Amino acid sequence: MRLYDAHNHLQDERLKSRREEVFAQAVRSGVVRMVVNGACEADWGEVLGLARAHPEVLPSFGYHPWYLRERTADWQQRLVEYLDRIPSAVGEIGLDRWILDRHQRAVKTGGLSPAASGPAPLEEQAEVFTWQLRLAAERNLPVSIHCLQAWGLLHDILRREPRPACGFLLHSYGGPVELVRPLADLGAYYSLPGFYAHERKQRQREAFKQVPFNRLLIETDAPDQSLPGDRNRFPLADGATGKPINHPANLAAVYAFGAELLGQSISELANQVEQNFLELFGGVCR
Ligand SMILES: [Zn+2]
Repeated sequence: MRLYDAHNHLQDERLKSRREEVFAQAVRSGVVRMVVNGACEADWGEVLGLARAHPEVLPSFGYHPWYLRERTADWQQRLVEYLDRIPSAVGEIGLDRWILDRHQRAVKTGGLSPAASGPAPLEEQAEVFTWQLRLAAERNLPVSIHCLQAWGLLHDILRREPRPACGFLLHSYGGPVELVRPLADLGAYYSLPGFYAHERKQRQREAFKQVPFNRLLIETDAPDQSLPGDRNRFPLADGATGKPINHPANLAAVYAFGAELLGQSISELANQVEQNFLELFGGVCR
């Protein structure tokens, strides 16, 4: 079976000590392509190196809302340069209100000094997001979007701004079920993470049942979003901290979860996901 990971972070520091071994295990388990998402400038060089070393790696370059404070003065020019170097996607970009609330709570409860610089405010997030979305639209590049608790704003921006003709990915979609159809009409694809197999993720599972079958993708988001313990086929720990992290070879287990959730056979799901992946990302596959 040919498996496609629509979203991971193979460049992540937590995978560093065992990266080549972990990557080889993923390929042995059936992964033929993975979209590796840079989330800030510090990531981009690493993502490019991985893509040059491995044809299975589809590189993606972008600024994630959590890291906007790290932007250098010429980040936009640098992003364009990376996109020019190799066929690539744009991402991970996005909007995140949850991280702002979490920061505020930490300040209130005394866990953080009020002077500590928090994540960038939503207006700034929207500005950076929109700039990157326009860049992707101009070049018709698939774009991977992260959104937490900012669905109304995301929907507004996607409606009024130019979008890539090939479509865009809402990774780990966790928005309202009512928005699935309207966002699909704008060109959205949806990638299901193994994390939604956790008991408490009922609402997110219900939303995925409404995703049009020709817009469904599967992701690990490794090293984040681990499956529940009984489904986790490749337990892995961060070499530095010993904390459990998600292994990209768990993709097959996420496919199994998706097939169960949607009442399909794994091979039926895998065929459709392959087709969907190539529809969205085929233009930048090498
Ligand atoms: Zn991500």
